[in-house]
Amino acid sequence: MTPSILYFSPQLASWKTQLDTLLLTCGQAVEWQAVQSIDQSPVLSVVLLAEKDIKASDWPLLASRKTIVIVDEWSLERSVTWIQRGAANCFARDDEHLAAWIISELSQFTLSRSHSDEDDVLQVIIDAIPVPIFFKDHLHIYRGCNTAFCQSLGFSREKVIGHSVYDVAPKHLADTYYEADRKLLAKGGTQCYEAEVRFSDGSLHEMEFNKAVFTKSNGQALGQVGVMLDVTERNQLIRQLDKATRTDPLTGTSNRREFNLIIHDEFNKRKHSEQTLSLMTLDVDFFKKINDRFGHGGGDQALQLIANWLQSQLRSSDTLFRVGGEEFYILMRDTDIQNALKTAERLCKGMATHTFLINQQSVHITLSAGVIELAPTTDLESALDMVDKALYEAKSDGRNCVCPVFQ
Ligand code: GH3
Ligand code: MG
Ligand code: MG
Repeated sequence: MTPSILYFSPQLASWKTQLDTLLLTCGQAVEWQAVQSIDQSPVLSVVLLAEKDIKASDWPLLASRKTIVIVDEWSLERSVTWIQRGAANCFARDDEHLAAWIISELSQFTLSRSHSDEDDVLQVIIDAIPVPIFFKDHLHIYRGCNTAFCQSLGFSREKVIGHSVYDVAPKHLADTYYEADRKLLAKGGTQCYEAEVRFSDGSLHEMEFNKAVFTKSNGQALGQVGVMLDVTERNQLIRQLDKATRTDPLTGTSNRREFNLIIHDEFNKRKHSEQTLSLMTLDVDFFKKINDRFGHGGGDQALQLIANWLQSQLRSSDTLFRVGGEEFYILMRDTDIQNALKTAERLCKGMATHTFLINQQSVHITLSAGVIELAPTTDLESALDMVDKALYEAKSDGRNCVCPVFQ
């Protein structure tokens, strides 16, 4: 049988020999380790404490270990008192049942075995890997970890091994980890998910957990091993890239791609709610003249000023898109055709009377617009066609005007 570790308090130093002999007779090899007080033993380990060695301040820790209290004179009352304080059991010094009880307890701790050369080699290997690695037993107790793990969490190996995730992480994060661990152990195999981890410097990192269950030859889960990849920077880049692909770089407004992404969602929402939805198409009149007068750079500046002005005129529930050169869409939530028309006319009038300054010269700009209410019964593609046609009508009606689509 693999030797297991038994922790014992000072008063039991000489007495333990007789128990050791008894255990060996039963085929249970044990490694003895002296502790001055219970907190020097790992969480969930088997600890034998002489009653006289236990201080009142040790009581709260009794339940976090398999604590056996050894008394000089056993009584049921005394035994119950210790069990109520959190001890796993209470035995008299000369009670041979103790050996049987210990063997039964140790057989559950398949991972708390003595150190071997292989363990040392494995430790060197995982320490050489610069990403955090840990492994836990089937009771969710850390049984090993590498240097990167300790450094990122800011705990010594001793503070990790033998402890649960609740000892190394704030409760709200520990709850997430524990739940994921529990699911993996129940299901077996591997698991990959992202979760936040608070590092020792206080910073919050997005980590990708890659975990796998390790089992006995009969398939019974012994525990799980996990590797944590810091994906904070990668995720930030993905978010930046995603935002960039949805944003027009010249004006900072949403672009046509973003419009295509959200219009279907908004239209579907509209189908299932009473909230109205309208769309306005806008095209700057005679924009070529602006380019001719101020050059392409001046034209770009005009487009920025136009977008800013339009944005300043909208409610927070409206979204402005630059969908082409000098073409804009405005998606207006909670807006029927009458209100959409009013808004379009307000924007056209407002634009026509606004003075823009480009290269210190006053410039007046007008817009042509089409508006449509995206009723749940309309087909989205044909609605987009109709509102584009309405815009062309506004152009052929002499520009600086709005043409609504009434269905
Ligand atoms: P209208 O719409 O009233 O018929 O006349 P328009 O002069 O605006 O005509 P059109 O829509 O055909 O031309 C738009 C012009 O906008 C053509 C193109 O040179 C210019 N343009 C498109 N994108 C940009 C841009 O990003 N920057 C600048 N400076 N000009 C652009
Ligand atoms: Mg134009
Ligand atoms: Mg145009």
